[in-house]
Amino acid sequence: MPELNYWCELAWLPPGEAVKGVLVTVTDSMISDVVPGVAEPPAGAVRLAGLTLPGLANAHSHAFHRALRGVTQREKGSFWTWREQMYTLAATLDPDSYLALARAVYAEMALAGITCVGEFHYLHHGPGGRPYDDPNVMGHALVQAAREAGLRIALLDTCYLTGGIGTPLTGVQQRFGDGDAERWAIRAEALLAAYRGEKDVEIGVAVHSVRAVPAEQMPVIGRFSAHHAVPAHAHVSEQRGENSACVETYTATPVEVLCEHDILGPRSTAVHATHLSDVDIALLGQSGSHVCMCPTTERDLADGVGPARKLRDAGSPITLGSDSHAVIDLFEEARAVELNERLISEQRGHWTAAELLCAATADGHSSLGFADAGMLVPGAWADLVSVRLDSVRTAGASARDLAETVVFAASAADVHSVVSGGRRIVEDGRHVLGDVGAMLGEAIAAVRGEGA
Ligand SMILES: [Zn+2]
Repeated sequence: MPELNYWCELAWLPPGEAVKGVLVTVTDSMISDVVPGVAEPPAGAVRLAGLTLPGLANAHSHAFHRALRGVTQREKGSFWTWREQMYTLAATLDPDSYLALARAVYAEMALAGITCVGEFHYLHHGPGGRPYDDPNVMGHALVQAAREAGLRIALLDTCYLTGGIGTPLTGVQQRFGDGDAERWAIRAEALLAAYRGEKDVEIGVAVHSVRAVPAEQMPVIGRFSAHHAVPAHAHVSEQRGENSACVETYTATPVEVLCEHDILGPRSTAVHATHLSDVDIALLGQSGSHVCMCPTTERDLADGVGPARKLRDAGSPITLGSDSHAVIDLFEEARAVELNERLISEQRGHWTAAELLCAATADGHSSLGFADAGMLVPGAWADLVSVRLDSVRTAGASARDLAETVVFAASAADVHSVVSGGRRIVEDGRHVLGDVGAMLGEAIAAVRGEGA
């Protein structure tokens, strides 16, 4: 078995401290040994400067939204007007353009230190909702994209049946729908079977939202998750309008509806969880559901700020996602969780840097079905993300404050080396696929119909 040694100038080790001179031995795709206190790199070891973290997990992504960056910033509006622009883009994608775009987006993620992505995938079918010859061809494109960019993927196959509560799918939305949950499950079963035994791919499931899945059909998705022991994610209470429509129909909040229909639990993730009642917080916490905060998207879409600290205290592990990819920078997501709470409470210090790093690494991975990732320990996936401590943003950090410096001041541009599943995919800030900016430019121009 191929074995490789990495010597980290500093490494972030459990239970949450930066340790000097750490030798990490990688056998195939996994860490086989971690030895702290090694003063100099041994002969043959690859030297990793700065602070080396476990791989970052981007727990909530819609890859194609990356092509909206900038475009949606010109005019006034709301989440709902943004959604119309997103539908216009969704109408243009086909399996080839989806592959090229997602590959470039995942390479951008790799450059930011992300080694695993949770892709919340609902663009299943062709124009008018006609299934492709292989009804999972769009999902396969996402898996191929992740593999080529060097990431592991949790492909969260999303059930999306209605345009709003009691409203049929119209226009582009028809590309998202399978008719009913039973037919969704048949397609998802085929997707799961295609990757059985392949350990870099986790096929999970998702309820798009209470807007898009009638409550009586939700148990099909919950049973699928339980039967196959795979993650189940759902968008929850991102907008007050979703809550009021839900209460009007079900006399219950979105969290209450998901709870009553077997969606919540330790394998589950409530994405956003912005506008919650105290009962919602208790239900999520008691069920052990993860909550994925996507602060850069939530502020971009004028969603609001979710009660992250209360949720954590109630029992929900917090994870992070770049969602619509207004930016892709998990350090920015991490610090926004704390900084948003400061703006609301007028108090500092709700989250420690170590807690926020845990959200970005171990808890993010566990929400995606990769419990054996996100920590620099023997037996874990060999994901090593090295952050410069000599850039204009990070220089001058004292040994005591390294995590604080990285979480509160570093950017994705400070990641200089990434090992993902034992494979070096970023070296000196360059991705193995080459010029990722050019890849993005070409792929985005193609889907916007601008030509390359
Ligand atoms: Zn989302």
